[in-house]
Amino acid sequence: MLVRTTDTVPHNLADEILRLKNELNAVILAHYYQESEIQDLADFVGDSLELSRRAAATDADVIVFGGVHFMAETAKILNPHKLVLLPDLDAGCSLAEGCPAPAFRQFRESHPGHVAITYINCTAEVKALSDIICTSSNAEKLIRQIPADTPILFSPDKNLGAWLQKKTGRDMLLWNGSCIVHETFSERKIIALQLEHPGAEIIAHPECEASLLSRAAFIGSTSALLHYVQSSPAQEFIVATEAGILHQMEKHCPGKRYYPAPPDANCACNECPHMKRNTMEKLYLCMKNRTPEITMGEDLRLRALKPIQRMLEMS
Ligand code: SF4
Repeated sequence: MLVRTTDTVPHNLADEILRLKNELNAVILAHYYQESEIQDLADFVGDSLELSRRAAATDADVIVFGGVHFMAETAKILNPHKLVLLPDLDAGCSLAEGCPAPAFRQFRESHPGHVAITYINCTAEVKALSDIICTSSNAEKLIRQIPADTPILFSPDKNLGAWLQKKTGRDMLLWNGSCIVHETFSERKIIALQLEHPGAEIIAHPECEASLLSRAAFIGSTSALLHYVQSSPAQEFIVATEAGILHQMEKHCPGKRYYPAPPDANCACNECPHMKRNTMEKLYLCMKNRTPEITMGEDLRLRALKPIQRMLEMS
């Protein structure tokens, strides 16, 4: 993001952010994958579906989005008259980037008669070319509402798509995309971790590869994983999704032990580099300067809104 030379960042960042929040009549929405300090001062922390619902229902004048670009864009689609701020405009997503609108248009045009169900991790342009948007929380429910004789195109996550095919028994054509974070988990290291902690259950997000999912005791969206650790009698969990969720697990269910699923390399690849672009400093500066702002043309917004509304009605 653009940092002005006159910008100074105060020491008491959290207090200043809360002061600006009141001054702007803003709501701070944060995804589970944000750094823990941002989660702690957000008005609401959730997954993509919950954040979309909150964005649709808010009466605040300003939405400050602790998440990635497609999420803030969704908030703008739902709230055209509100100022939507994203601390770092470059906070992208490998799934959204791997599904450019011109190629997606071709994919659709070469499969007439198909209904296009598209994961919310995509750009507004791709949403506008889709019939129904889904999240990992509601995708199964939405697919089950599509008549059995209607063929489905599912984009852009092939791993989520394959898992949904298995669950619903529907034959779907899948876009060949994946999440850089969820594809990085090492099955070999996860097995080694489970040998060290034999009582630990593996729980996984459906964006993970099928071989890893086949080892999981439970598969679900980030919110579903959070609920699962609270209801399961197990005391230890190996968590195969972005490591930011561990903060909420420790808050909601202290006393249990959580091990982040290790990535293949000795790096922090189980953290989303896009999500982690947002920092407390950038959050403060975007609220102080009221920029960077999400903007979009009204024609695109209206076309992208339709499949999101269908999702909200059907889920
Ligand atoms: S964790 Fe994966 S799917 Fe989620 S924002 Fe990061 S790159 Fe995209």
